Amino acid sequence: MPLTDGHGAHSRQFEPNPEPNAGGFLAQFGASDESSEGFSPTPRGYQPGRTKYVVVIGTVMSGLGKGIFSSSLAKLLKDKGLSVAPIKMEGYLNIDSGTLNPYRHGEVFVLEDGLETDMDLGTYERVLNQNLSRRNFVTAGQIYTEILERERRGGYLGRDVQMIPHVTGAVKMRLRQLAMTGNDGKPCDVVFVEVGGTAGDYENGFYIEALRELAFEEGPENVCFVALTYILEPTILGEQKSKAAQLGIKRLMEAGVQPQLIACRAKNPVTEKVMQKIAMFSNVPMRRIFSMHDRASIYSIPDAMREAGLDREILSILKLHERVNTVQEDRERVVWSAFTARMAAPRAHKVRIGVLGKYASLRDAYASIDKAIEHCATALGADIEVEWLDTSDVDTLARAKELVARFDGVIVPGGFGMRGVEGKIRCVQAARLERVPFLGICLGFQVAVIEYARNVLGWADAHSTEFDPASTHPVISELPEQKKLEGIMGGTMRLGAQDVQIERGTLAHMLFGAKDLVRERFRHRYEVEPKDVTALVAGGLVFSGRHPKHPIMQVLELPVAAHPYFIGAQFHPELTSRPLAPQPMFMGLVAAAIARREPEFARTEAGRRWVRAANAAGTGAAVTA
Ligand code: GLN
Repeated sequence: MPLTDGHGAHSRQFEPNPEPNAGGFLAQFGASDESSEGFSPTPRGYQPGRTKYVVVIGTVMSGLGKGIFSSSLAKLLKDKGLSVAPIKMEGYLNIDSGTLNPYRHGEVFVLEDGLETDMDLGTYERVLNQNLSRRNFVTAGQIYTEILERERRGGYLGRDVQMIPHVTGAVKMRLRQLAMTGNDGKPCDVVFVEVGGTAGDYENGFYIEALRELAFEEGPENVCFVALTYILEPTILGEQKSKAAQLGIKRLMEAGVQPQLIACRAKNPVTEKVMQKIAMFSNVPMRRIFSMHDRASIYSIPDAMREAGLDREILSILKLHERVNTVQEDRERVVWSAFTARMAAPRAHKVRIGVLGKYASLRDAYASIDKAIEHCATALGADIEVEWLDTSDVDTLARAKELVARFDGVIVPGGFGMRGVEGKIRCVQAARLERVPFLGICLGFQVAVIEYARNVLGWADAHSTEFDPASTHPVISELPEQKKLEGIMGGTMRLGAQDVQIERGTLAHMLFGAKDLVRERFRHRYEVEPKDVTALVAGGLVFSGRHPKHPIMQVLELPVAAHPYFIGAQFHPELTSRPLAPQPMFMGLVAAAIARREPEFARTEAGRRWVRAANAAGTGAAVTA
């Protein structure tokens, strides 16, 4: 049936491949032929079968650790020398995660390119040890915006714009574009698709439909569906029940998706009997059903998956055996095993770290801080007890001192809004006076500047214009580019990776391994007022990291004589910490916390590397010791 002119206009927008996909599965039903009912847009030059897709869909309930599951599986394949690119598909209508409340949705994770995303992207970056970008995160809001804007430009003239083929087409287009560019601009071997929510949700239905179409178009050897489900074990029965899992998987099958592999989340190892039932009801052979029960550490999951043969099954389903590099795999396994062994080993040191934030009751709100501390704990062999506290009721310095004294180190994390800010200022003052190791992050950095201005420079009403626009000493004020943006809240902060020039001879320089330039990730609207920098520096505060060109202060610290470890960053150091490469400012904090309890630690190799005391003699070169 000939299609309208409108369809032609639509296809031009998608830039379909002008050449038929020679011999490909897509060609069988005319996917590259815009006059065919089977038309499906593909990026120019797309080769079906070059890139394989693994799609992970949750059933029964959310919060099962889909991101951890997908990233661990992706890591296994990456370790085999395959290039992987994950993509998280969110069903909500926000364009990004920037305007979401961390209390409801977990932390906002910022990528190098400035996109504010779901915290799962942090999991992918950490587990894969790979930077991601806006190509790896899609929301319903992005898809609909793209389509509606195109409609207004006349991109579909003559056509009614429909969920199928237009919305599903846009989803497939995003996936195929990622397949062609990967994370490094080159076609990748496997795209890992994680669909947010669970099968049966209204809001992710169009993703599941798009993926069903994708699987049909790409062919059975090129797309593997994994259903992640949950096995209930009611205490009242004392045994595992598979019915909820069966119903959940059935939901997926009703949408036309037959999973090839089923991963069963559960508290305890899933019994043979339960797996048999699931196999029977879902047409999946027993060898492709896996028990993914709770484990002490998420980092042991890749090994557990490998032992269970999950990676092998994926390779068979997708016919990927030929692309495997076993030498690389062996090498990566040794590295990872050493890390997991270090994680499991008895810890020689014990410290307590206090995180003085706003969302004290929900750790997901500071997920990356939690992880960064864990990375350092493993690297330094420390058993770290982390306590999350709300500072709203810290109303006197005495109380702040009491609170801070309970810890070997304190972190004041990033944040927005006035609640708890005065308490934080008092806690920073207490940490400074009591010489308790301190790390201030973003708002924590700004609070340290306010505290210094008030209590050392004597500017009693010093504040941030975010909290007190009438202050006569607004030592923290809006960035010039932000002043123009009044009222536009989404994606408008100073976001993403920026260069930080580190001053030689400072604590920061030592921590960053004597590098003069580092790149870290930012997310802020306010900055140190450039006019006040001279006075703050004259008063003894050191700005050891600055923007290379603009007067934006990015790292602050106190000199050796004044404090064993007092440092703050306008950026978010937690976002770049990785299991095998812990972030230096966190390493310094944990090392200083250990040294506070065990002064002899400063003389150990790790101590010399990370504890400021080693530099007290002014050598400034202890970094390579
Ligand atoms: N509210 C502060 C600002 O916008 C700090 C932001 C943050 O901590 N991420 O600059």
